[in-house]
Amino acid sequence: MDFSFSVEEERFQEEVRDFFVKERETAEKAKEEWDSGMGLGPQCWKILGMMGKRGWVCPTWPKRYGGLELSYIYKYIIMELLHHFTDVYTLVGAGMAGPVILKRGTEEQKEKYLPEIARGEVEYALGYTEPEAGSDLASLSMKAEDKGDHFLINGSKLFNTRVHYSRYHWLGARTAVLDKKFKGISLFIVDLKETPGITIRPIWTVGGRRTNEVFYDNVKLPKDCLVGEVHKGFYYILEALDYERISTVGGLQRDLQEIVGYAKDAGKSKDPLVRQRLAQLAIEIESAKLLAFRVAWMLDQGKIPNYEAGMLKMLVAETEQALVNTAMQILGPHGQVKKGSKWAQMDGKYEWLYRDTLETLITRGTSEIMRNIIAQRGLGLPRD
Ligand SMILES: Cc1cc2nc3c(=O)[nH]c(=O)nc-3n(C[C@H](O)[C@H](O)[C@H](O)COP(=O)(O)OP(=O)(O)OC[C@H]3O[C@@H](n4cnc5c(N)ncnc54)[C@H](O)[C@@H]3O)c2cc1C
Repeated sequence: MDFSFSVEEERFQEEVRDFFVKERETAEKAKEEWDSGMGLGPQCWKILGMMGKRGWVCPTWPKRYGGLELSYIYKYIIMELLHHFTDVYTLVGAGMAGPVILKRGTEEQKEKYLPEIARGEVEYALGYTEPEAGSDLASLSMKAEDKGDHFLINGSKLFNTRVHYSRYHWLGARTAVLDKKFKGISLFIVDLKETPGITIRPIWTVGGRRTNEVFYDNVKLPKDCLVGEVHKGFYYILEALDYERISTVGGLQRDLQEIVGYAKDAGKSKDPLVRQRLAQLAIEIESAKLLAFRVAWMLDQGKIPNYEAGMLKMLVAETEQALVNTAMQILGPHGQVKKGSKWAQMDGKYEWLYRDTLETLITRGTSEIMRNIIAQRGLGLPRD
């Protein structure tokens, strides 16, 4: 088995890196924007637009929808560098909604929705979680009634993070109450700009990021907003979740290098415990990277990574926690001082990340749910 990049892949990696180095000023502003907690802002859109022009937002897609028909390892290379330079680690339109539209959508939907995602012009917000449906997503109760020429939507969603700046809501709603609760759910694309009756209210995380509550009050959706077959949405949601759990380690590698540099400069690397902890992080990040390559390889083989994507999501989220905890211990009490204070270390970065990274253990499926998936689907263990 050859773990190295081919000559073409290496050349491509250099090309993408050169792009981000050349656009460093915009990338740094995009990172500030993303880290401010408000999501994608003008500088992020600028970077995405430039990437879109090169076909780098959806490189694996067919050329007629704005892709380059490249393999997933190329997508991994791009996402790792985007993560490294801007902290943006995932795009819902390009990474989750788009692949499902590509697989399940009608030709009209593909032509309407895919090229603008690939150009880096629009984002989608996940509309799954409700007050009574989180890990147990099949319990969702937002109602979508078939009224002949349209669907009528009523109900509310919770923790829908990107909805305040996204063009589309990728919405799961109940079209029927059937024998099994996961049956009778359908998936819709809602144009947030053109659809009246939707109210969005902010919720702030402990890390200062914005997520939202969303209320649908007698919202009419045209019939062609339905994705795939009616009542089959839960299967598509699971499919999309498997794509969503594909994570990169670009930010982790960058942060580890930074902490290693700090430990050396501050004389902390003389402590054998510090060296042990940093070495352990290096092992975990490398393992996550190899798992990411395996997931990319599976996608290239036409397989949907399922428990493998769960392993990767969990490993990246928990390594992020370990990295932040290690950084806090190396920094000592001053690590807890906020950005802006003269006592803050590394500009208060880890005081903030200590709070901010908590959500990575919850969003995109909690670590407990990931372990359940690995136990059941990976090891064949019983559900109950
Ligand atoms: C910051 C943030 C952003 C989010 N963004 C989005 C978004 O954009 N769109 C969206 O739809 N959702 C989003 N979510 C929702 C997220 O996916 C859910 O919070 C998550 O799936 C957990 O659901 P819950 O909060 O209802 O907790 P619960 O499901 O009630 O879980 C509570 C605890 O019980 C554990 N648990 C639950 N079931 C089991 C089980 N079977 N076995 C073992 N342990 C279990 C969980 O691991 C957790 O620790 C976001 C959440 C947060 C915090």
